[in-house]
Amino acid sequence: SKTEECLERLQEAGPPRREDLIALLSLRDEKALQPLFFAADARRKETVGDVVHLRGIVEFSNYCERNCLYCGLRQANRQLKRYRMTDREILEAAFAVKRANIGTLVLQSGEDPFYDAEKLCRLIESIKRETGLVITLSLGERPREEYQAFRQAGADRYLLKHETASPSLYHRLRPGSRLENRLTCLGWLKDLGFETGSGNMVGLPGQDAAVLADDISLIDSLNADMAGIGPFLPHPQTPLSSCPPGEVLPVLTILALVRLTRPVIHLPATTAMSVLHPEGRLKALASGANVFMPDFTPPAYRRLYDLYPGRSADSGDPLSILNLLEKELNRYGRTILP
Ligand code: SAM
Ligand code: SF4
Repeated sequence: SKTEECLERLQEAGPPRREDLIALLSLRDEKALQPLFFAADARRKETVGDVVHLRGIVEFSNYCERNCLYCGLRQANRQLKRYRMTDREILEAAFAVKRANIGTLVLQSGEDPFYDAEKLCRLIESIKRETGLVITLSLGERPREEYQAFRQAGADRYLLKHETASPSLYHRLRPGSRLENRLTCLGWLKDLGFETGSGNMVGLPGQDAAVLADDISLIDSLNADMAGIGPFLPHPQTPLSSCPPGEVLPVLTILALVRLTRPVIHLPATTAMSVLHPEGRLKALASGANVFMPDFTPPAYRRLYDLYPGRSADSGDPLSILNLLEKELNRYGRTILP
């Protein structure tokens, strides 16, 4: 069949063909998509195995200077109570990650200039010294010198989603910023020796199959080590409040296509997927994903890290969430690895 032909060509070496990606992205019902999900799951098993990698995430500030149209943390959202965690609180949260037997800490925030390079470097050094954790940063766009300083202080990885591969959509959704600059930042991070994560939202207003095909090709051409791919979810206090949310099937389709085009990439099953569907995260893990990021932000702050609604429904104690996940995964022959 045509689907099988496209699938075969995608698994050959070299960049994916745009027509093949668009053809597969245009399949809309679960049955037609089964061969794709099946192929991606088999590829995942061959290349990265049955292990699900864990990353403990700590969202240490919800201040942001930007005004991304999709995000609840945008500066113009005056209804959100803002917080910043102290160095002590951040270090405590890092210890909680360590105690949960997780090897990687992800530090994420809005674009908050309060944490300047000097403060962040001191923090990175002390977390590294006291916990030995692998440190991933997700702090948005910064000057090259700052990325370099973070690297020298001991940071190992950096997540900077390209958000959408369409330059015009990017510019519309992120006023005052350009996709080109984001891609320059991703290039610097690679050069500096960071393991680098990109990724995009799925279901953004104005996004079509061609844009999603470009998202997949971009992740490939960036040589991304990781890709955060999840649905767009409208937040009531943003200009996109009345847009429909992304859907489960298109996200699974893109995860599967990324797994096939970049077989050894790390793909998280995102929290946004469980917001869309109770089994969303498991479905992602069965369609190419191999990473899970439990939230270690202290509960009082967690509900204020309000990117999109429904996140706090998932905000139980991370250890019991992990226990539950492990039970579910074991039923599918998957195991958890710190
Ligand atoms: N400020 C940094 C940045 O923008 O890269 C890091 C934090 S930002 C809140 C992390 C991610 O949240 C973004 O990469 C974006 O994809 C995601 N995000 C924000 N608003 C969202 C929404 N309404 N639905 C889904 N994802 C969203
Ligand atoms: Fe700020 Fe990041 Fe949200 Fe944009 S996506 S408003 S940069 S926190």
